Amino acid sequence: MRAQHIDFYTHDLSDEQEWQITRAVRDFNAAQRVVNIALRGPRKLRLYLDRVSWLDITATAEPEAPEITVTSHRHIDNWFTHARRARALMQIAEWPVVLPPEVSAAADVAPDAHILMSLTLATAMLLAGLEDRDILHGETRGCLFDICARKAHRALKLRCAFICRPCRARLSERGMSSVEVVAICSVLERVRLLSLGRDPQDTAPAGLGPGTSNGFQAVATAPRYVGESDGSRRITTAGSSLRSSL
Ligand SMILES: [Zn+2]
Repeated sequence: MRAQHIDFYTHDLSDEQEWQITRAVRDFNAAQRVVNIALRGPRKLRLYLDRVSWLDITATAEPEAPEITVTSHRHIDNWFTHARRARALMQIAEWPVVLPPEVSAAADVAPDAHILMSLTLATAMLLAGLEDRDILHGETRGCLFDICARKAHRALKLRCAFICRPCRARLSERGMSSVEVVAICSVLERVRLLSLGRDPQDTAPAGLGPGTSNGFQAVATAPRYVGESDGSRRITTAGSSLRSSL
């Protein structure tokens, strides 16, 4: 199966936001091999009192390949993410509203989780050919498609990061393959880890299998018993000792 490609454009990002977006694309592509997101550089959008308009994007000609635009500005209609046919728009202006310090002790990675969630949501809607209003639901379940009208609810969505049964059925009805759904869920696994302050690993940490040793095991002194008076015995090693009740 060939990977699908999505072009990703940026609008008015700071240097720090550029790095955040680069990390999000890296995390997205590393989590699965079904969809490849390619950064295509900056584009211009018109501002209205420092906000951007989704209608401005949909008013232009439909692109040949699916594309997502990320902006540092809020949307006029206050949404986080929009999608229709081959285009999507996401904003990264409001992550502190999503995970304020009093809610998340793992705030160092909160922006990364928030950005990766929006990127995953936009991608899922593009893959299914769904318009945002066709699938986003008002009830907060922890599902990717929670609308999160109360923006603080997005913290729950980040930590649960799953696709609920009705939404899975909706994606299937629209022709999204199970392989694509699994790919989206693989990225959501990273969202969940990042929201909890954990660092997703591309490979499992090297462990100690049967019959192997990391050196310490080969040279460590085994504990030995040296006395059994007064109902307890003393366990000692070369440098320390402790008592153990029988
Ligand atoms: Zn759902």
